[in-house]
Amino acid sequence: MALWITDECINCDVCEPECPNQAISMGAEIYEIDAQRCTECVGHFSEPQCVQLCPVSCIPVNPSFVETKEQLLAKYHRLQEVGLRTPAATDAPAAVAADAAADAALHCVGSSLPSLP
Ligand code: SF4
Ligand code: SF4
Repeated sequence: MALWITDECINCDVCEPECPNQAISMGAEIYEIDAQRCTECVGHFSEPQCVQLCPVSCIPVNPSFVETKEQLLAKYHRLQEVGLRTPAATDAPAAVAADAAADAALHCVGSSLPSLP
């Protein structure tokens, strides 16, 4: 399953830079996890890094995104294929366009996954 952040989040900003898939970002009020990018850290680490680091334990599994280890590993490979956004890459207009295309490809591939409620 992908993970999600509950409203107990205190916006400490510890998890966001440690996510290997850049799945965590600041939402309207608290940090959020993009389920299309969260692999539970499968492919990178043996344990979810955000869960290990969160000081208030507010990152449970997302019951709306039931995925097997094999599906999470397949998601990891899709992310590797389309490339991950990097801060340096977003500085150049051409890179921004490439990022948008990569994101579109990723979400197209991930469209078969169940939607959040
Ligand atoms: S479990 Fe891993 S991939 Fe998913 S949001 Fe947390 S750090 Fe990112
Ligand atoms: S580590 Fe936990 S409390 Fe801190 S921003 Fe992430 S989810 Fe919120």
